[in-house]
Amino acid sequence: MIDYRDDDSPRDACGVFGIWGHPHAVVLTHYGLYALQHRGQESAGMAVRDECGRLVLHRGMGLVADVFDAATMSELSGSATLGHVRYSTTGSSALANAQPLKVRMKAKNVALAHNGNLVNAEKIRDQLESEGSIFQTTSDTEVIAHLAARAPGDSMRQNLLRALQQVQGAYGFAALTSNALFAARDPHGIRPLSLGRLENGWVVASETCALDAAGATFIRDVAPGEMLIIDDDGINSVQIDPDNPRTEAFCIFEHIYFARPDSNMGGINVHQARKNMGRLLAQDHPVDADVVTGVPDSSLSAATGYAEETRIPYEMGLVRNRYIGRTFIQPGDELRQKGVRLKLNPLLKVVQNRRVVLVDDSIVRGTTSKTLVRLLREAGAREVHLRISSPPYRHPCYFGIDTSTRGQLIATDRSVDEVQQLIGADSLAYLSGERVVEASGGRLDDFCMACFTGNYCMAMNDANDKLALEVEKG
Ligand code: AMP
Repeated sequence: MIDYRDDDSPRDACGVFGIWGHPHAVVLTHYGLYALQHRGQESAGMAVRDECGRLVLHRGMGLVADVFDAATMSELSGSATLGHVRYSTTGSSALANAQPLKVRMKAKNVALAHNGNLVNAEKIRDQLESEGSIFQTTSDTEVIAHLAARAPGDSMRQNLLRALQQVQGAYGFAALTSNALFAARDPHGIRPLSLGRLENGWVVASETCALDAAGATFIRDVAPGEMLIIDDDGINSVQIDPDNPRTEAFCIFEHIYFARPDSNMGGINVHQARKNMGRLLAQDHPVDADVVTGVPDSSLSAATGYAEETRIPYEMGLVRNRYIGRTFIQPGDELRQKGVRLKLNPLLKVVQNRRVVLVDDSIVRGTTSKTLVRLLREAGAREVHLRISSPPYRHPCYFGIDTSTRGQLIATDRSVDEVQQLIGADSLAYLSGERVVEASGGRLDDFCMACFTGNYCMAMNDANDKLALEVEKG
């Protein structure tokens, strides 16, 4: 992921990770959160059920390494955990919105964590506030807590089910109480969530690379619309809304960009899917060139696929400095551009006097491509041909990606030729949606492709902006 664009960069959502019934749950959750760090770098947190059955919460702003230092880790112990890494898609980046959220409801403590975005959160919160509920955060996860607290009866399973039946949107959701770990996926299965097994205990994680990090064996994906209840007696599965079945709509952008290449989703390895995309891109949009290079790190798989198919040598044309944090980048155009150069530097020997194919997985606002094409030319590239392993990104995502307005997207209302002109490449071509799906080994109908097509799998009348829950009313 490239995050040098600082404030104007699009962002992906979050990662959740939970363990039930393992003596080293805290350390394994720490590993799992490291493995999910690419899904969110604003805050990290962990709720732990300690030996006395209490829920202890630790969370903070920053990376997993910042939030969980040795001293903190030594104070946490327990056999059941719920962890989270966050990139804000609803609610601002602030400690109060860091997750897990710990609340007390019906005389029980519960920790909640969520990856995704609820499109009717604002409407529900307005309604609950008008009835007297008091909200402590501006994150949509708190809406689930309030709905569960108002559900009739004392069964946490029933209360959470009632809450999830009322929310709309995308979620990989987990909750921890002293008695059970709950894990649920929205009825369309937009966001990923997997189940794994440890010798003693169970693990749920947004991505399978986190199961690997914790030494767990992958069992299966949580099904769309399924809630798992994991406790000392084993696992139970219930349907969230059995009377209202919905079509599957897994986010295709997980395959294209979000997920780590060593994760498997929907039965296919993400690196393999991306490599297939690169191959298909080469078949559909070949070009005479001397070298293929990719934008580190997310497009390297597609770039190798493109190179293998065309037999044009793949080389590392851009070197990424991994040690530059977001805070290092200064505001203002000139300093910002210098910042880009610090983070991604062209390898002169590779690109000088050569015709370069630059493969990237997506163009969202266009900032990355525009800057990289210029940098490659300044480094002496004779031609720069841009090949994108996904279709033009034209519509905002309301399901957990921070690309909230059409105006920010370079391909909205522009032809491919116009985008090429703006970016300054010698040629530009995108992979079609059909071919992306073919590369991912599924059927067109199984995916949410709304960012490319504008066809959302639910009514978007209620969809709100990231900061909608911050706005004061009345
Ligand atoms: P942009 O510079 O706005 O056109 O964004 C596209 C670039 O950012 C590509 O290099 C992608 O690999 C990367 N990218 C795509 N989607 C996201 C996202 N949601 N968050 C951060 N980076 C992204």
